[in-house]
Amino acid sequence: MAKKTTTKSSAKSIPVTLIPGDGIGPEVFDATLTVLEAVGAPFTYDWQKAGMAGLKEAGDPLPKATLDSIRKTRLALKGPLATPVGGGFRSSNVRLREEFHLYANLRPARTLIPGGRYENIDLVLVRENLEGLYVGFEHFIPIGDDAHAVAIASGVNTRAGGRRVCEFAFDYAVANGRKKVTLVHKANVLKALTGLFLETGREVAKEYASRGITCDDRIVDACCMQLVMNPYQFDVIVTTNLFGDILSDLNAGLVGGLGMAPAGNIGKDAAIFEAVHGSAPDIAGKGIANPLALMLSAAMMLDHTNQQDKAKRLRDAIDGVLLKDKVRTGDLGGKANTKQFTQAIVARLK
Ligand code: NAD
Repeated sequence: MAKKTTTKSSAKSIPVTLIPGDGIGPEVFDATLTVLEAVGAPFTYDWQKAGMAGLKEAGDPLPKATLDSIRKTRLALKGPLATPVGGGFRSSNVRLREEFHLYANLRPARTLIPGGRYENIDLVLVRENLEGLYVGFEHFIPIGDDAHAVAIASGVNTRAGGRRVCEFAFDYAVANGRKKVTLVHKANVLKALTGLFLETGREVAKEYASRGITCDDRIVDACCMQLVMNPYQFDVIVTTNLFGDILSDLNAGLVGGLGMAPAGNIGKDAAIFEAVHGSAPDIAGKGIANPLALMLSAAMMLDHTNQQDKAKRLRDAIDGVLLKDKVRTGDLGGKANTKQFTQAIVARLK
């Protein structure tokens, strides 16, 4: 894989910071860049490191050079970053979201392969990415010789934070021909923390009623049950950080799992697109990883940079390979390795 800054550029080229990440990251990156080239995406690349790769080569899981690059490009495509569980360094993913104020986590879930539990799912979840219970205000209170006798965590939601993520969800609905936004909360119990989110979401909804977007709301536990019973009643869901984390994985489960789930972390001044899956250390280096999630994240990046025609061509080629050519990687029950799968998509793009 070419790892230096790409020099080929044109007046219309769009600079992107590339962070291949750890484990299978470099393999699915290679595949994704190959299809981006085949679709004629006008990106130029600045290769950077983060995660274990950053720690190993620059002594920092989120090196300054990587942050400086994103400050310049304001657009990044990122592979999975390994994070030690429990101790060790803080998640570079969370740090990146905070550093660039990427307040909206956009997670579409669309059926790619029929024959699963549901057909034709097409849901979008918008998760608040910076507030709530993930602000990390937590501590233990020792009692006697038990240093961890009591654990306390505080959540922080703001009216401004709720407004900007709800506006993002409604704007997304308007721009993408969606009809309904569902606000998901737990305002019956967490009356202040998620009550504020609900109150703000309802205020925002009134401003979009004249633009053809309806709004309803659900308590998070009921929403989980209803998503499993009848997911078709939902269209766009917007919710707070923790609920969004859980619900977006639930939605991925409705369409066959995390292996095919793309995501965009989007703020006012920057956006980072990434596959939802991790670094898959068990299959790293074997050349069998499924690159679909990163390819679909790249399609979201094409949409984000107003290249909807290329995004559609890429998604259509993926659909063709999965459904007509029936070329699939092992995790999807097929026999293709990463390179064969990628070449099948390139063939369709040509
Ligand atoms: P994982 O997603 O890496 O792996 C879970 C299982 O799914 C494994 O069996 C793996 O082989 C399989 N899998 C994942 N992606 C696949 C793909 N593209 N093709 C085929 N199979 C795939 O989850 P994990 O094992 O819990 O995490 C491993 C590491 O990744 C951890 O260090 C974790 O912190 C990190 N992680 C990073 C991110 C991120 O950067 N966004 C997300 C999740 C986990």
